[in-house]
Amino acid sequence: MDADRLLEGLDPEQSEAARAARGPVCILAGAGTGKTRAITHRIAYAVASGVVSEQQILAVTFTTRAAGEMRGRLRGLGAPRVQARTFHAAALRQLSYFWADAIGGPQPTLIDSKIKAVAQAASSCALQPDRTGLRDLASEIEWSKVTQVRPADYEAAIVKAGRTAPMAARDVARVYDAYEELRRERNLLDFESLLELTAAIITESPRIAERVRDQYRYFVVDEFQDVNPLQKLLLDAWLGGRDDLCVVGDPSQTIYSFAGATPSFLTGFSAAYPHATVVKLVRDYRSTPQVVRVANHALRGVPASAQRLELQAQRPDGPEPGYAEYDDEPAEANAVARKITALIDSGTLAREIAVLFRTNSQSAAYEQALGDASIPFTVRGATRFFDRQEIKQAVHTLRGARHGAPDSADADVEPLVTAVRHILAPLGLTDSPPEGRQARERWESLAALAQLAEDVAAERPGAAMTEFVEELDARVATEHVPQFEGVTLASLHSAKGLEWDAVFLVGLTEGMLPIIYAESAEQVEEERRLFYVGVTRAREYLAMSWALARAPGGRRTRKPSRFLDGLRPASPSLAERRTQGRQAKTVQCRICGATLIEAAERKLRRCLDCPADYDEALLERLKDWRREVSTEQKVPAYVVFTDATLQAVA
Ligand code: ATP
Ligand code: MG
Repeated sequence: MDADRLLEGLDPEQSEAARAARGPVCILAGAGTGKTRAITHRIAYAVASGVVSEQQILAVTFTTRAAGEMRGRLRGLGAPRVQARTFHAAALRQLSYFWADAIGGPQPTLIDSKIKAVAQAASSCALQPDRTGLRDLASEIEWSKVTQVRPADYEAAIVKAGRTAPMAARDVARVYDAYEELRRERNLLDFESLLELTAAIITESPRIAERVRDQYRYFVVDEFQDVNPLQKLLLDAWLGGRDDLCVVGDPSQTIYSFAGATPSFLTGFSAAYPHATVVKLVRDYRSTPQVVRVANHALRGVPASAQRLELQAQRPDGPEPGYAEYDDEPAEANAVARKITALIDSGTLAREIAVLFRTNSQSAAYEQALGDASIPFTVRGATRFFDRQEIKQAVHTLRGARHGAPDSADADVEPLVTAVRHILAPLGLTDSPPEGRQARERWESLAALAQLAEDVAAERPGAAMTEFVEELDARVATEHVPQFEGVTLASLHSAKGLEWDAVFLVGLTEGMLPIIYAESAEQVEEERRLFYVGVTRAREYLAMSWALARAPGGRRTRKPSRFLDGLRPASPSLAERRTQGRQAKTVQCRICGATLIEAAERKLRRCLDCPADYDEALLERLKDWRREVSTEQKVPAYVVFTDATLQAVA
């Protein structure tokens, strides 16, 4: 691709970063300002202008899904061979590659959960914590390893860090020690040891260092505010004193400090590299002014000492953010499902919608509600897509079909999509998702492959099976995971860096966000940043909701999150509701079920946040009217439109 064309579509500051081809570069900017876009264009520009070859670049991002998206964008920009990976994936590749040479013997087994080993270690120390206790212990061990604290130093380290141990600090240290021993004995490798070992073989073996550093000469790290000391150690090992490093981040999106990450590597970057090009971006290209207003408000509570960058909205106006209160969680989830159905009916793609929550345990209610409403959704990320059994099997069968295996049928002449669906059907790709979580997950993976076939067919009409398999092979080689076309259900932590047209932030109560165990001021600030991350995922439509009780009929004791203060319309006190008398009973919106206040007649009982078949001009007038009454008469923003109301604004 022509190098200069890659600078088109960047604003002057983004372009400055992209053109700073060599040496240290730091982009420090708020959410949605185009940091990720700037670095992908910078990489492609460096390749196109011959500064560096594709294979010499290592781009590191935070989640597998973000890495997949970056590879997707780089392909589109003519740099398909750039390695965009998570720290773990990059380390795993290098470690496997150099294992025989550097260490030898059988390769260790990678474990992605410590719980089992921690339980055994605890029991060897005569401790029997319950499940929560085990999880806390595992996180504590993780924190220690990530911040490079050894068992013997644990007690002193937590005092220094102002951290409270989940049990007697001495016991944590004992379990940690026992865990490490057990891990070594059984040749298990957890994620932290994976990074540590990779860094160690590079720094300790000049021969391996030379090979790694010869291979990678150009480094880019996205989401640098959440880099932890262990990742930094590995990065430094890769760099070996060189400075072709570009980092990008937003201190206001630090959401992993509980796990040992620190924004100080980002904020201290220009002190560490005084000759660095530092670029700040403030224009928000992602979200509507309505969403940006909520985002800026969310950060207003942040201590003045913190670095924060006020976002400037660039996009045209969109719908007002919605705030809705429900009696209980199932009511909230069902209402969200109804709103999603309405969005899909009015043309929003399911894959452009996300439901985001604080803890994974909140997912179940939404899985149920979306399932009941026959809305396609996906709950797991893109983790190790090509390692899944069903996908391995499918890829194998599809490759066979290309070479004309006995029962593949005319594959080259049959329209591609039908052929692929036909081949995947016996593996479990039914027309609609099956019941049961495992069957459903399997179905989702296969549906993603079918979707890929549709994409290929749409891009290259008349494409044959051979072309599809070539595309598939290229993706297997670069781990470029196809996306499933459903609504995303995800935790706020896993949503960073991503964006959707419509975002539902659910379960926004005190105790959930901020989460109940966020006790110190710093912990609450991290929760606030998490809220900011959630808000800024939305391009157009942002709906925030909470439920007063957990289960139907339960006590309505929950309070809306403090982060909504000054944002959500104040709900009337019980006394106010009483004095409003008979005429002011609470009713539900007919479409989404949100509580509407102020009812006289109940003809057009629906709230403005539901996309409905209002005539557009009328809708605008209604919104204006709502704004007026909301501010001047201090009535709640949810109103019921009676005939009289409609006449008043007509
Ligand atoms: P986050 O902090 O959430 O990771 P970010 O700063 O990385 O956000 P991007 O994801 O790069 O932001 O960009 C946000 C959106 O704005 C994307 O859809 C991107 O394509 C778009 N965008 C970025 N820069 C521009 C630009 N100069 N012109 C038009 N659109 C842009
Ligand atoms: Mg980004």
